[in-house]
Amino acid sequence: MRYFRSTLFLLFSVASTSAWADCRSPDFDAWLSDFKQEAAASGISAATLDNALTNIRPDPSVIQRDRSQGVFAQTFLEFSSKKVNSNRMNLGRANIAKNGALFSRIEQQFGVPAEILAAFWGLETDFGAVTGDFPTIRSLVTLAHDCRRPDLFRPELMHALQLVQKGDQTPASMRGAWAGELGQMQFIPSSYNKFGIDFDGDGHRDLIHSRADALASGASMLRNYGWRAGEPWLREVRVPKDMDWSLARLDNKLPISEWAAQGVTTPSGKALNGGGSAALLLPMGRLGPAFLAYPNFDVLLQWNESTVYTTTAAYFATRLAGAGAMSPGNGLVPKLSLNQVRDLQARLQARGMNVGKIDGIIGEQTRAAVRSVQKQLGLPADGYPDPSLLSKL
Ligand code: CA
Repeated sequence: MRYFRSTLFLLFSVASTSAWADCRSPDFDAWLSDFKQEAAASGISAATLDNALTNIRPDPSVIQRDRSQGVFAQTFLEFSSKKVNSNRMNLGRANIAKNGALFSRIEQQFGVPAEILAAFWGLETDFGAVTGDFPTIRSLVTLAHDCRRPDLFRPELMHALQLVQKGDQTPASMRGAWAGELGQMQFIPSSYNKFGIDFDGDGHRDLIHSRADALASGASMLRNYGWRAGEPWLREVRVPKDMDWSLARLDNKLPISEWAAQGVTTPSGKALNGGGSAALLLPMGRLGPAFLAYPNFDVLLQWNESTVYTTTAAYFATRLAGAGAMSPGNGLVPKLSLNQVRDLQARLQARGMNVGKIDGIIGEQTRAAVRSVQKQLGLPADGYPDPSLLSKL
């Protein structure tokens, strides 16, 4: 799986900056020799180790990138309007048309439709155009040796060496994003190794250069995470002026008829229909866009844990499947700055609430805490903090 996709890296770095301030990396040569021993013991051959690690040194530009990341605190509307633009929509439609036979073969085998794969393909690498040019092994050696997240990157380096040993890539061909994500779908090496598929039949799983391998591997990963063939993932709806907003949580799936009874309608105001259960997803609270999120949405969240990213990908896929542009909602949603969100999180924590890390990011834990305090204060409990809530605290 890709639990530390680029957006998640930002969460990690923002959350733990202070803890890293005084960590010290070990001596590189000693570290490398220790790593080689562990790799050999786990079955990596001497030839592979020589091929991949001879004369390798850490790359200071990777460390610099890692330490200077901006902060991912865009709202869903900011992020999605930037990412799901008309150019990318047109490219998405064109790429689906151009690769129709491939996409239908993939859907037959894995049950994952073209629009879902095209959405991730477009968001990750602009349909294979921008896959990154950092030598993956050197990036991973750098980050595995660095003192901040060796537990995350050391296993990824091991998986990258396995990809070399299995003949899927050579150290020279394995180039990607600075933090080790690879290929047209930007898989981390462990996902590549676990879910990668040779779909063009040449005997190698080449998720960088083979479109068929890359797209089928995305489908293979989603099916492994529980994708349900033929079911929806996200659907835009309209919410009433008032309802029990605390029902709107990703972990609260209700039959569609229940939402209809609450006054939720289609975007044009018609009665909701359809079977199954879904959660009411209000990425920016009751005044912003509104969606029903089906069980398949939870599967997409395993591709990337960031709700903003995943809702954007899921929405992009609905657009490619023919849905209209979403309504921004019933009114302007006031935005809190990163520091205001941190301030809010600290105040909620001081009230004994669990907000996760005080990182300025409105994640699921922060939303749950906001919902409780909104209830305590007699406010609409939609879990989305605004400036008036902050001033009341
Ligand atoms: Ca292949």
